[in-house]
Amino acid sequence: MVTTPEIPAAARAKYEPVIGLEVHVQLLTATKIFCSCSTRFGNPPNTNVCPVCLGLPGALPVLNRQAVEFAVLAAMALNCRINETSIFARKNYFYPDLPKGYQISQYDKPLAEFGWIEIPTSGSAKKIGITRLHLEEDAGKSLHEGFADSADKTAIDLNRSGVPLIEIVSEPDIASPDEAYEYLTRLKEIILYTGVSDCNMEEGSLRCDANVSVRPRGQKELGTKTEIKNVNSFRFIRDALEYEIDRQAGVLESGGKITQETRLYNANEGKTYSMRSKEEAHDYRYFPDPDLLPLVVDEQSLAEIRRTLPELPEARRKRMVADYGITDYDAQVLTATKTLADEFESAAKAAKNPKRVANLVQSELMGRLRAKGLEIEHSPISMKGVAMSADLVESGAISGKMLKDLYDLCFDRNLDFPSIYEKEKPQQITDSSAIEKIIDEVIAANPKQAEQYRAGKKTVAGFFVGQVMKASKGQANPQLVNELLAKKLDS
Ligand code: ADP
Ligand code: MG
Ligand code: ZN
Repeated sequence: MVTTPEIPAAARAKYEPVIGLEVHVQLLTATKIFCSCSTRFGNPPNTNVCPVCLGLPGALPVLNRQAVEFAVLAAMALNCRINETSIFARKNYFYPDLPKGYQISQYDKPLAEFGWIEIPTSGSAKKIGITRLHLEEDAGKSLHEGFADSADKTAIDLNRSGVPLIEIVSEPDIASPDEAYEYLTRLKEIILYTGVSDCNMEEGSLRCDANVSVRPRGQKELGTKTEIKNVNSFRFIRDALEYEIDRQAGVLESGGKITQETRLYNANEGKTYSMRSKEEAHDYRYFPDPDLLPLVVDEQSLAEIRRTLPELPEARRKRMVADYGITDYDAQVLTATKTLADEFESAAKAAKNPKRVANLVQSELMGRLRAKGLEIEHSPISMKGVAMSADLVESGAISGKMLKDLYDLCFDRNLDFPSIYEKEKPQQITDSSAIEKIIDEVIAANPKQAEQYRAGKKTVAGFFVGQVMKASKGQANPQLVNELLAKKLDS
């Protein structure tokens, strides 16, 4: 039965939501966490398997060093404290996609704890606590669809069984669906920067379970929570939380009680449904896995891994705003992926004037991208192209007006700046006598300004430069114009 969550805004406002997220991230190792089977996505079912990940009797797990290093790197990026010793534990439950009858995970001694992520909120930034980050193996996959003969068959693909995951559990610090969305966006961005996962949600490399409760505003104790599972986009998680908060407030408002349960979100209907209540849930009977030694990450390994930690997005944005004088918004766009930020910075650094590169991105590139509805990754003009155009303006080889025209052509023809510039390179007038002729005409046409200049108002020179460039349709070599004009005016 569906409880309709329609609840008057005034009643809804009496309640405060509390949200905690559990995120699973698949690590980008070539092989599984306890065996040497491939982790490749999309191979034929049950081809990436061996006795260990099939759970055959007598097979013994061997821990993948790379998985540990990736997990530690992620934990560092999330400001966690890393425990020198952590313990692998068996989490026992029966399910067809779990051949051993238990999942190897970490329980009371996880790899890392006490981290945080900073998220922007309407006021200032807010820190969301990370309770723990631990290593575990993935289960297999049950396939319920795609059988020609019968609809009620289930097949099992164990390619994913034993693929390394980290689980990142947040504190119940998240106060709204929007904050949950921000948290997930930041988390994904940070993980992508570290390079330990591709965070591809379609392929299941990033999965999120959302825990949510409501309580009367001002109350200290947390309300009873429900857990929403299997939501496959950040937007849907936000929507599911919106629905669920209204539903819970509605139940409490009408004198009911929240049952602790797992719920599923139906994105087509925009509603959550009860899947199983906690009463039916398992006691996992955790105990240390006797086949695996305690995991020890010593000081030296930590130091080595820390050296590979890249500058993270938030710090990078702040530095880029300071270094290039760009806005927060543009820093945001330019750091959307690490690759883009790297491209921008290497192009800007190689250019004569890095700030001009940043300015051109802001003033000329972004607007054109927006007008065409293009993401910056699909810009016809590369960062190298922007840097080249900046240098041409800097040296006076092209005017600002020409640059705009060339950019328009790049977007019209979907070609990068260097190739458009080669073809459309303005025919510059570099013949001094031709330029002098134009200068003479301009001075003669503007006697008042010439007078002012000679009376000592040297800034009028700029006016003349503009007039000469205009008269030459932007084709006069700006450097020559400057030199010759000064001579003429001073004579
Ligand atoms: P469980 O034992 O049910 O898995 P945990 O204590 O491990 O619960 O918490 C799981 C997640 O739920 C964490 O992200 C935590 O912050 C969040 N959480 C715990 N209690 C609540 C609550 N009352 N309301 C909302 N979220 C909660
Ligand atoms: Mg839990
Ligand atoms: Zn295997």
